[in-house]
Amino acid sequence: MRFNILDAVSDLKVKKSIADKLSINEMAKQVVSIGFECVRCGECCRARSGDNTVILFPDEIQLIVDTHGMTPDEVCEPSIPQFIDDSGTLHCFEWVLNRHSNGDCIFIRVDNTCMLYQQRPWICSTYPFFLAFTNGAIKPDIKVSECRGVGRPIKKEDAIKLAELLKGRLLAEITEETRLLENLKGFEDWEPIRDYSSQGYQGYTIAVHDSSGMTYITD
Ligand code: SF4
Repeated sequence: MRFNILDAVSDLKVKKSIADKLSINEMAKQVVSIGFECVRCGECCRARSGDNTVILFPDEIQLIVDTHGMTPDEVCEPSIPQFIDDSGTLHCFEWVLNRHSNGDCIFIRVDNTCMLYQQRPWICSTYPFFLAFTNGAIKPDIKVSECRGVGRPIKKEDAIKLAELLKGRLLAEITEETRLLENLKGFEDWEPIRDYSSQGYQGYTIAVHDSSGMTYITD
């Protein structure tokens, strides 16, 4: 399959210019009308209530490494491989926060507090909200994931903080994806992996692509 990187990057440039102009007040009003208060149930960090994958960008990994004295591989692992090249190397886009064997995030404490609270990734600090360009919409919509705290009253100042975080996250995602794609030049021809479950990592060399370039991991 031939993937057109230039088209994808120019699409992201358009999205960035739209994201730059998003009104914090308008988004905060929407957050107030939806309502949210964290009830400290910890469900979003645990596996029992569904997908708790947290994608991490290089600067987020570095912040955790620096603040908590951990190594990168103690913090995260490669995401699910997206394609395999002619030499048999599996290629992944971005990293995923490590989870225990039961699927729970390694940073959730028994009392449901987060060990990373001040350095938690964008996905965690904006949960259960995210911004997405869906169905060809010109502007991104505020989407809401499943969460027990949705619908509870939220103060205007907290809604403003959340709106600022949502905008920051969207801009960070667009910037990260743009850089990743620019670094992907030379990998335009690839076959997507459709059934990863039968693939597994074992015995493969993994290449992880992100905004900083490509990292090879061998067994
Ligand atoms: S980093 Fe913190 S907020 Fe994010 S999933 Fe882990 S425990 Fe939850």
